[in-house]
Amino acid sequence: MSGSATRLQAIAAVTNYKPISKPLNFIENKPGELFGTNVFGISEMQKRLPKPTFKSLKRTIESGQKLDPSLADVVAAAMRDWAIEKGATHYAHVFFPLTGLTAEKHDSFLVPDGAGGAMVEFTGKQLIQGEPDASSFPSGGIRATFEARGYTAWDVTSPAYILENPNGTTLCIPTAFFSWTGEALDKKTPVLRSIQALNIQAQRVLKLFGHTDRAMVFSTAGPEQEYFLIDRNFYFARPDLLNAGRTLFGARPPKGQEFEDQYFGVIPERVLACMLEVEHELFKLGVPVKTRHNEVAPAQYEIAPIFETANVATDHQQLTMITLKRVAEKYGLTCLLHEKPFAGVNGSGKHLNWSLGSATQGNLLDPGDTPHANMQFLVFCAAVIRAVHKHAGLLRAVVAYAANDHRLGANEAPPAIISVFLGDQLTQVFEQIRNGGAKSSKGSGILHVGVNVLPAIPKDAGDRNRTSPFAFTGNRFEFRAVGSSQTIAGPLVALNTIVADSLDYVATELEKATGGDPKNLNSAVETLLKKIITDHGTIIFNGDNYSEEWHKEATTRGLPNFRTTVDALPAIIDPEVEAIFEKHNVLSKRELQSRYEIYLEQYCKVIHLEANLTVKMGKAYIFPAAIRYQSELATTCANLKAVGYTFDTDTLDLMTALVKELQDSLAALEQLLDHKAKDLKAESEHACKTILPAMNKVRTVADRLEGMVADDLWPLPTYQEMLFIK
Ligand code: ADP
Ligand code: MG
Repeated sequence: MSGSATRLQAIAAVTNYKPISKPLNFIENKPGELFGTNVFGISEMQKRLPKPTFKSLKRTIESGQKLDPSLADVVAAAMRDWAIEKGATHYAHVFFPLTGLTAEKHDSFLVPDGAGGAMVEFTGKQLIQGEPDASSFPSGGIRATFEARGYTAWDVTSPAYILENPNGTTLCIPTAFFSWTGEALDKKTPVLRSIQALNIQAQRVLKLFGHTDRAMVFSTAGPEQEYFLIDRNFYFARPDLLNAGRTLFGARPPKGQEFEDQYFGVIPERVLACMLEVEHELFKLGVPVKTRHNEVAPAQYEIAPIFETANVATDHQQLTMITLKRVAEKYGLTCLLHEKPFAGVNGSGKHLNWSLGSATQGNLLDPGDTPHANMQFLVFCAAVIRAVHKHAGLLRAVVAYAANDHRLGANEAPPAIISVFLGDQLTQVFEQIRNGGAKSSKGSGILHVGVNVLPAIPKDAGDRNRTSPFAFTGNRFEFRAVGSSQTIAGPLVALNTIVADSLDYVATELEKATGGDPKNLNSAVETLLKKIITDHGTIIFNGDNYSEEWHKEATTRGLPNFRTTVDALPAIIDPEVEAIFEKHNVLSKRELQSRYEIYLEQYCKVIHLEANLTVKMGKAYIFPAAIRYQSELATTCANLKAVGYTFDTDTLDLMTALVKELQDSLAALEQLLDHKAKDLKAESEHACKTILPAMNKVRTVADRLEGMVADDLWPLPTYQEMLFIK
């Protein structure tokens, strides 16, 4: 079958699509009753565990107290009974290696009973600890293959759940994954450590404000996921989508997103059916999905949950991505989580809404209604501003990878320059603090900057700014530079750690200045806030983040602007970053170094894969189509000339020139791929600064050819087909 036949068959298959899934019944299965049915959560534990066991576990989950390992056998037995009632035959330790993906190793509950039969077994030890053969997971030199031991350890703070499959179910246990030296090999371990660090420092600040209840302070996360859905027939006809997750070729469609008729538009029936089933599945897993809508680009959508504690939100986010992919298949669709599947069309991000709070204090970034709460709020808010200013480079680095470079650093939301949007009202409050002294404010007489008499700040304290990478949105910050395919773990670890360090600074300063006397708190806070806003206020920017003026101004303000992953990643091993990560016991120098190497290597692998695919597709798909058409043109020209017509050969000449250009650019790219760099850093530079531009050259020619070659010869589904035929 020729390439074009594959494409035309794909179109035919899409237009003949018949719904295959059996309809869901939300009347029989009420969403409320469905929620959490496949989760071994607090209520299931309470039902099934002896009271003291339950109480002890709950303390660990809710207050971060040390897990009592002697409980494991009892919990394991209860969990096993519950899982078997749900039809489980296997259990799996689920973990999150540094590939950013979810990994799971399944074991059967059955063991031989020694008498020719089998019995069900699941002990406390099996619950608590696993040992996957871990040699093939990236470790960045932390674990040589001869010492390949890696352990998984039960994370009691993230509930176990049942994963359903038409042919059976599996009990899944979220775990942390580390080497035999205790070094983190995964994304979860540092999340847990950073939550601990944030709690310790936030407690110190709360204590200064007179709160002594000691309820654990958690960071909270609400990640909004953007994604594309296209018909899977198109997906399978595009080797680039299949292998690289994005199109490496494709001319802009005549109609793009310029009509802005997609955003919040009516959701197509097949897509809505798919979304409903995604939500149905996620409800069962206890993932509190809430919002769904069409996004800006054609075929782009969004799903957002209600926020949860950071660790659970991270695991639930991974489940959301897996579920989107899995359920889409049932509807003949493919879910594309890549940051930029289609050039020239809006890419996908994952806005990470972040805050911190405790059961007794509530959300610590909620401005509240009372002056007293305002003062406390301003301290926490200032700590975040300071953290982001000091570590803008790190925040850029934790969202740096090949796919996200197409958003950040390109002319698309948000830019690579990290700044903070506060909104007019909060900015004014901080401006007044910076300028010191008394000021009048509209209608409310004298406003003393002694903070405690500032007016209550209404919850929606300002406008929205869609262009800011880090925006205050009423009672939380929204980190918008996170990419759609990435786990939120890395960004959360960075945020928790830099804010923990800032709170450490704040607490230390206030402890010193008050000398332990609460009467001195007001003036101490006033002085400290003034200092913070003077030293770190340059990170605040409320304007248009895309404007050229901002890029210039950011440079004068000394804010980093790392356009590519290669430029951004070294911030992970910056001595100042290493120092605070070690100080707060989140990641050691060696662990950070290993991560840096792994991410750099991943970058090189992605670019090399894409470059190889470009060569392969250029040669085996585009070139043959181009010469077929060229030959047709040439034959026509010759025939016409033979019968005496004077024939304009412009088209033929252009075709011939483009075919030559295609050949040349492919040869040049191929040559660049044959390259041995002296080290990883040099290799990544080569990939970024030499290979990528060479790939783009091939693409430019190929996309021009797409506009010329006869449509029935063109082998690849076009942008218009993929984005608009549903
Ligand atoms: P928008 O698209 O307007 O930014 P959405 O409703 O799509 O808003 O998403 C907002 C997200 O922010 C939700 O996931 C919500 O749960 C989350 N969120 C709200 N409050 C907090 C908080 N205190 N901490 C973390 N996330 C929060
Ligand atoms: Mg949203």
